[in-house]
Amino acid sequence: MAVLRLNHIYKVYQGGVRAVNDFDLTIKDKSFVVLVGPSGCGKSTTLRMIAGLESITAGQLYIDNVCVNDLESKDRDIAMVFQSYALYPHMTVYQNMGFGLKLRHQKADVIKEKVLKAAEILEITDLLDRKPKELSGGQRQRVALGRAIVREPNIFLLDEPLSNLDAKLRVQMRTEITKLHEKLQTTFIYVTHDQTEAMTMGDVIVVMNKGFVQQADAPVTLFEDPSNLFVATFLGSPQMNIISGKIIKNSGKTRFLLENIEENFIELNERAVKQIEHSSLPLEKEYLLGIRPDQIKLSKEGIPAHVEAVEQLGDETLIYVSIASHKGNITLKAPLTIGVKSGDDVKIEINRDKIYLFDKETEHSLIGLPSLNKIPCSFNEGKLIFDKGSSIDMNDEFFMHLLDRAKEGKAFFAIKPEAIELKGNEDNIPINITVDFKEERTNYDIIYAIIGDEKEYIVFRAPKGNDIKNKDAMTIYLPIDKIRIIDDNGDSLFSKERIYKNVAKAKLSTKKDGKRIISISGGEKLVYESLPYEDGEYDFELKQDKCHPVYERKKAKKLNLPETIAPKNQCLSASCYDEDPSNNTNIVYAKIAGFEDYITIQIPYSFSVYKLPKFKLYVPEDGFALK
Ligand code: ADP
Ligand code: MG
Repeated sequence: MAVLRLNHIYKVYQGGVRAVNDFDLTIKDKSFVVLVGPSGCGKSTTLRMIAGLESITAGQLYIDNVCVNDLESKDRDIAMVFQSYALYPHMTVYQNMGFGLKLRHQKADVIKEKVLKAAEILEITDLLDRKPKELSGGQRQRVALGRAIVREPNIFLLDEPLSNLDAKLRVQMRTEITKLHEKLQTTFIYVTHDQTEAMTMGDVIVVMNKGFVQQADAPVTLFEDPSNLFVATFLGSPQMNIISGKIIKNSGKTRFLLENIEENFIELNERAVKQIEHSSLPLEKEYLLGIRPDQIKLSKEGIPAHVEAVEQLGDETLIYVSIASHKGNITLKAPLTIGVKSGDDVKIEINRDKIYLFDKETEHSLIGLPSLNKIPCSFNEGKLIFDKGSSIDMNDEFFMHLLDRAKEGKAFFAIKPEAIELKGNEDNIPINITVDFKEERTNYDIIYAIIGDEKEYIVFRAPKGNDIKNKDAMTIYLPIDKIRIIDDNGDSLFSKERIYKNVAKAKLSTKKDGKRIISISGGEKLVYESLPYEDGEYDFELKQDKCHPVYERKKAKKLNLPETIAPKNQCLSASCYDEDPSNNTNIVYAKIAGFEDYITIQIPYSFSVYKLPKFKLYVPEDGFALK
């Protein structure tokens, strides 16, 4: 048995490279999980943390409910296979496969039994007496796998094991590794940068980019409901076409204008129109429309296009066309030869039932299954309140994590559709909804529903075979720890740590020249030209989002950040304790002399406590209050 739980795992290398951020996933026993993404996205780092070859900066790794963060690699019951086979050249295949067992002082007859069994599974019995140099690439990789199998580990980790093989062999070994997984009945975690390899091998595919998990789902789900632009364009070949434009309403119709050209529109279908109406999507903004190449066809009526190139690929044809104002080509995948050639003027028709829509800034998917349910909300007296008055009772603990900005400005309640549950328990909050409609997918149905009289949809997945019908009144359950509070840009207003009060005792006095001095008791002094307070003793309260770190020229250069200038006597020395980064901002917990607890501030993402464990915090005049 091996259930793996990666609980909000981070890896920051010395020097500040954030290789893995907030990796949060449970891996079921016996599953085949593939980590896929471009080079440098953090796949190997994640695998190496699981293997125990790399320390975990933050978060916990559990194997069968035991935290193994501090367990040495050799004690983790894990075997790892690398891209380079790392076979011992002077040993035979038999010796290579048995070497690890020999090191563990296993008896010769036990080693023999295990090596022969593994060789049989891998069909390399007749190679056992050969040396690595007498083997082909594929055979060597099989030996490397054999070396892992003989250890009978609970978890197999494979890091791009097929990258050194030629294309044909890669396809063949792909099937063999899948078969091996079936035979061994253990958990496999497989790393590749090749999307086809990922899609054909994994039960669950974890798509990563720039150190963040983009989506973890079954292959068909990633294809049907990509959660953002990255996933949508990373998977699928040829790539999904992406076209920019505005959404306009015109005499009862809602249209997407391709590149904002009025004549080049797509009439949105009823579902899309409903979803746009029931969301907080501002219509004045531009969006990105996504359409896969096989969902566009040539037609008599439609959008004028110019054929730039035609590629015959045996049973299908790829047609590359240009349309007005669109940079780059749009790809059409047609089943057979269609009588068009490069230079032709044609018309294209986009299947409006298969379009995707993405936010230009966050790149989140907005229609169909959205990346996030995002509903405007405010907070009052222990409640989270939606615009039309529906509310959820939140406990005190919840409010201890909420940044001040959430209570002051525009905040959104956010939850991923897949986090919403249909059964109640102690750790989730019931909420009554009315179903508007339902849409079918391969692995689940998508339910579009409304909380009370609110305008926005709350969208979730219901397992196949559910009996949910349009207009049903029902209860859904929100896991407390999956609720997020974000701002308009998708930045978190909810911190993983409890928020500290940011309060110190201070004395305000006036110098002869009229300058005002705040002396933080047990701490430093701050000097201002004028302040709207009388001299006296106060509670000095540092605002969470008005102060920022100062980088002098030298430091700025070293950190590759813009230099910041601030009066020296308006800065406090801070030493970091932890951080909680989201899109553009980072919630930082730090120690400042005179403050009882740690202080909590929200500053730009470019700052990392790992880059700068000690820093000067600029406290502008509006960066604090005296009470
Ligand atoms: P992948 O396997 O997806 O190609 P890696 O996990 O190897 O990516 O690397 C993720 C990021 O971490 C990259 O930016 C890489 O340069 C950086 N990195 C990897 N190993 C180290 C290291 N030992 N020290 C510092 N940075 C590293
Ligand atoms: Mg790698």
